[in-house]
Amino acid sequence: MSAPLSAAEFTANAHRALGDTQLQHALHNSRDGFILKRAKAIARLPEFEALRDAARDIKAHTLEYLDLYLEAYEAKVLASGGIVHYAATSETANSIVLDICQRHGAKSVAKGKSMIGEEMGLNAALEAASIEPVETDLGEYIIQLRHEMPSHIIAPAVHLTKEQVAADFRRVHIDLPHDRDLTEPSSLLTEARKILREKFLAADVGITGANFLIAETGTSIIVTNEGNGDLSQSLPKVHIVLASIEKLVPTLEDAGELLRVLARSATGQDMSVYTTLSTGPRRPADPDGPQAYHVILLDNGRTKMLGSDFAEMLRCIRCGACMNHCPVYQSIGGHAYGSVYPGPMGSVLTPGLFGLDHSSDLPNASTLCGACESVCPVRIPLPKLLRDWRTRAFNRHIGPESQRIGLAFWGFLAKRPALYGFAARMGMWALALLGHAGKFRALPFADGWTASRDFPAPQGGTFQAQFSALRKRP
Ligand code: SF4
Repeated sequence: MSAPLSAAEFTANAHRALGDTQLQHALHNSRDGFILKRAKAIARLPEFEALRDAARDIKAHTLEYLDLYLEAYEAKVLASGGIVHYAATSETANSIVLDICQRHGAKSVAKGKSMIGEEMGLNAALEAASIEPVETDLGEYIIQLRHEMPSHIIAPAVHLTKEQVAADFRRVHIDLPHDRDLTEPSSLLTEARKILREKFLAADVGITGANFLIAETGTSIIVTNEGNGDLSQSLPKVHIVLASIEKLVPTLEDAGELLRVLARSATGQDMSVYTTLSTGPRRPADPDGPQAYHVILLDNGRTKMLGSDFAEMLRCIRCGACMNHCPVYQSIGGHAYGSVYPGPMGSVLTPGLFGLDHSSDLPNASTLCGACESVCPVRIPLPKLLRDWRTRAFNRHIGPESQRIGLAFWGFLAKRPALYGFAARMGMWALALLGHAGKFRALPFADGWTASRDFPAPQGGTFQAQFSALRKRP
């Protein structure tokens, strides 16, 4: 079990992650799976790029008229017998959940996977009120046993090996026979399912997230591969939907378009195994369903982002493709980011929601290779947004002074091409002169690089010299 990490300590977290052999093993095992499956799914769908355009436009349109769609959605939920609560902060959202649970005398809550629940710190709030939260998504269940944050937005326990999970089950499931084989993922699943069935039946309240909220019908949609979301929302007598305000889309047809890019981008499936729609509490003719239906719409800084340069980030549909393709995420996993939202999307969203002061390293946790933008199903310009955060951190004097001085010096030269060329030639000349055997074992200001590899001594001319020679060629 590990203590929660902080975004302010990203560099130290990343160093630790790189030296964690078990984590590296787990990351290596999962690295190519997501990428290959997505690539195959997209190859089967020639109109995928056009669908990305449509998905981007649907989300951009909804954000532009979000106030109207929120009103329309609320009216439909009310008409179907449900209640909509608006929460400006996580604290307010938690107190609304607690109030609902206490009014219904809840002792335990079955939770479907919800990143908003993670963002709110809901489990801690429930436990503090003596209400047992039970995570029913397998990955979430595993990290709950370990008191950890998710390390990936769609695969919360991707940082673990199956041997670690088996050891956790043996530690916590006290009735588990010693000779029970837990070497295969399927045996782990069976074991978790046995425990969770009883928890589902005992739960007084079910809490789910929402992938989309439909303004025209007042419906919430969740997609899962385990069916736990269905049981969480249909067995208990109360269903609470947790969603952030940007989950709205205008129509069911729009949600259909987004679903076509979501699962393909996330897991490489054409569709997730379960796509579940819920609209209000059970009606007299319904065979099952909750007696009470609440939706909590969380803002938590999103309205502020809507009117800012970072509004495009609110198009995110939480597929996880950007992190699956990010070389930084692939190397250190999600916990190093110290936020419930890791990877490129988290490096943009976390400063937006929680402030740049405590997460100023995150926008630097990227090589700006562009892989994230190239796979994003809603075409969020993640590298541009990361650069924008870097600019803000620089302008606000956040971050190490040495970095500021270096960047300011580089900026000074970059605005004076002749001086830049001269400095580059001098630097190259000096490095070539000092570099024995064509390489450096150590360099001042570059010990991060030379700690684990040599730095090549420059050869030939500067880039500018070579480029101008190339242009002069007949
Ligand atoms: S930013 Fe794009 S790729 Fe990343 S999780 Fe969001 S929708 Fe998916």
